[in-house]
Amino acid sequence: METARTIVIIGGVAGGASAAARLRRLDERAEIILFERGEHVSFANCGLPYHIGGEIVERDELLVQTPASLRRRFRLDVRVRHEVLAIHRTRQVVEVMDLEAGRRFEQPYDAIVLSPGAAPLRPPIPGLELPGVHTLRNMADMDAIKAQVDAKPGGRALLLGAGFIGLEMAEALTQRGWKVLVAEKARQVLGPADPEMAALVARELRVQGVELLLGADLKSVAPAGEGLLADFGGRRERVDLVLVAIGVKPEVGLARAAGLALGARGGIQVDEHMRSSDPAIYAVGDAVEVTDPVTGRVGLVPLAGPANRQGRIAADNLAGIPSVYGGTQGTAIVRVFGLAFAMTGASEKALRAAGKPYEKVYLHPNCHAGYFPDASQLQIKLLFDPHHGGLLGAQAAGRDGVDKRIDVLATALKAGMTVHDLEELELAYAPPYGSAKDPVNFAGFIAANVLDGRMGVFHMEEAASPKASQLLVDVRTPSEFAEGSIPGAVNIPVDDLRKRLGELPRDKEILVYCRVGLRGYLADRILGQAGYKARNLSGGWLTWQAWNEAQAA
Ligand code: FAD
Repeated sequence: METARTIVIIGGVAGGASAAARLRRLDERAEIILFERGEHVSFANCGLPYHIGGEIVERDELLVQTPASLRRRFRLDVRVRHEVLAIHRTRQVVEVMDLEAGRRFEQPYDAIVLSPGAAPLRPPIPGLELPGVHTLRNMADMDAIKAQVDAKPGGRALLLGAGFIGLEMAEALTQRGWKVLVAEKARQVLGPADPEMAALVARELRVQGVELLLGADLKSVAPAGEGLLADFGGRRERVDLVLVAIGVKPEVGLARAAGLALGARGGIQVDEHMRSSDPAIYAVGDAVEVTDPVTGRVGLVPLAGPANRQGRIAADNLAGIPSVYGGTQGTAIVRVFGLAFAMTGASEKALRAAGKPYEKVYLHPNCHAGYFPDASQLQIKLLFDPHHGGLLGAQAAGRDGVDKRIDVLATALKAGMTVHDLEELELAYAPPYGSAKDPVNFAGFIAANVLDGRMGVFHMEEAASPKASQLLVDVRTPSEFAEGSIPGAVNIPVDDLRKRLGELPRDKEILVYCRVGLRGYLADRILGQAGYKARNLSGGWLTWQAWNEAQAA
């Protein structure tokens, strides 16, 4: 009888624990040894902000599995506080440090799954090493932040970086009664999002009392009495706590030292089976480079879903099942107080950077039937191929129903669907949950109208500087118009348009807009059939406002 293989797993959280458990389900005989440098395996890193904020009350709820439970159920040999120091590939051994005992030893392996994750970036800014300056990656980081928050009710925090973790922490600390200043180097929050969609999130932060400093350039942090003084070059802010959440960098020290191939973005290179340049070593999670299936570009996408699925795929392949990873389309969601923001696929800026042609539409449908209580508006942006209508990406913000729409769109994108397919989707409907024409169907209707030439659209850049050969016409009511309009626009309400056509010059292109795009569409149809050249502002006044907020940031 063949001897059992020894599989060493390095890193015991999202990718590593998934790989280990899946491998055991597929291979009862393998010797599976999991080394984790920290004190915990399989803890819920995504839940850390919510324990600090007090929503997850019991700390232990975050410990999804323990070494003992993994041993009992999966017969895994789990060693916490064990750091793998080196991989000696020619001898097929890993060199391990037992951090508790201070003992070094070697462990032979037949194959490795490397899932070391990514470490928070700490830029070389003076003072970021001071007590009271934190990063948030694991339970120990969380405990340190929470202890400080508990100890000083009503304190003030500086959150450096307005990414997913920074914004979750802005909410958590506000919930704890702290004042929060978010400082972000870019001119928008949520870097992966497009600026006009991110502006909706920035608006929510400000409404909730979070101070937002965009384009911020932190020069130094210095001790100041019991607190800290953050210097932004002229502007100084006194705070009690600083959280550095400006992104992560893949932990590739082991891989590099072992001579595994790294990619241009600094992550471990893997093939579609998650195999590194050494066929005996698989690598998964935040440390690996992934391909964006929309743009074809290689990047680093540190998200839990991909890490978990990659761990599973590595285990499959180790067990002889040739599963393939199809790339990371970047589906993500974040709650920022009352608002959810989510996205999938490529953003407009990613498409532009990749030189990929696209068209876009914006829409603002209700999350469920408008006549049913508590209906709120969604803001959706859909990006699609201008030739055949294939989906390229979507972003959505709103109080309710954002997760469901982005997940449908993510599934549609993965399935290679077009905007016409969105028109056809049969989605669950009753008044508390949606509309007979779901927002996803609507996105398809609007995009298909554009694609098939039934509605010409224009976008914010054009609205901001119309040519002499164009006339901007606001088709909302006079009272809406009086509350604010796009500079240079004349007001002809859509219901008056047919009888006032004579007021419109025949030699100009008519650029119409309304509040969300629907009345503008009707106006576009009336004008088009009356022989005018017309286009409608996608997303209307609401998107115009968000776009202007983004421009002003
Ligand atoms: P990790 O889960 O980080 O695990 C890597 C482990 O490897 C670490 O525990 C580390 O100690 C260990 N290790 C490293 N080197 C060695 C070594 N040499 N020897 C032994 N052990 C080693 N993603 C989402 O999709 N949604 C969210 O809402 C979300 N929220 C998040 C909130 C926070 C606060 C954080 C920190 C992350 C969040 N993420 C979220 C990201 C998600 O947690 C990561 O993408 C995911 O955990 C990556 O899995 P991984 O296995 O690659 O790395």
